Amino acid sequence: MPEGPEIHRAANTIRRALEGQIITHVECPYATIRGQEHRFLGKEVLRVKARSKAMLIHVGEDVLYSHNQLYGRWTVQKKTSKERKTKRSLRIKLETETHVACLWSATDIELLEPWEVEQHPYIARLGPDIADEEIEYKPVLEQIQNKKFGGRQLCHLLLDQSFLAGVGNYLRSEILFNAGLQPSRKLNSLTAEEQARLAESAISITQLAYKQKGVTVDKELYDLLRQQGMSRRQARHHVFTRDGLNCHECEGLITHTRLSGRRLDYCRSCQV
Ligand SMILES: [Zn+2]
Repeated sequence: MPEGPEIHRAANTIRRALEGQIITHVECPYATIRGQEHRFLGKEVLRVKARSKAMLIHVGEDVLYSHNQLYGRWTVQKKTSKERKTKRSLRIKLETETHVACLWSATDIELLEPWEVEQHPYIARLGPDIADEEIEYKPVLEQIQNKKFGGRQLCHLLLDQSFLAGVGNYLRSEILFNAGLQPSRKLNSLTAEEQARLAESAISITQLAYKQKGVTVDKELYDLLRQQGMSRRQARHHVFTRDGLNCHECEGLITHTRLSGRRLDYCRSCQV
């Protein structure tokens, strides 16, 4: 499942194609938006924004809300390029003079009025979205200091979107490594310095993943490892999917574990 940085990059692609443009053609075959073509046609796309794993497209008076779940996917292409073949089911097609944006296979699609957005059950429960380019340090640190989450282990907490939105599986391992924290630590055991480190790592690693298309090590290190023949999978992260390989920091072996069926990798000596 795509994580925050991937959704925000998809939003960027849609934004570049649609924002400020007029919808010239629309198809809404999906049940929850069928017959609503008039709410898009001839209207301007005012804003495209990702909120954690949801996409919000403000068109005219309305907001198209979609959540990709496991199978949903947005594609964007120029009208002049050949339409790609796909077995996926079309949910909505939005065309401007120059581009076509399509949502495929998603099942969670609604049209909202702007005032309904913040009250939407998915949006309302989200913590600060650390994949958002405009994220600030303060709300993230406040969330880490929030007693409500204090008794929970970092490994579980980091996948809870009401704690920090936008974190998924690879980011969980990478953030904990960067912060130097053992996955089993409870949030209320962190010193003030460790709290600050967790806030900084959560933001910096997620933003790095956003800028470097899912790569969470420095570009120079990544390029070096690739030149040495390492696969993308083993070169792109510090610990995630690197079990059995040497830690870049201490040369110790990366440890692998699974929690609720989901991979978690870490370094026993760098993370305390
Ligand atoms: Zn290490």
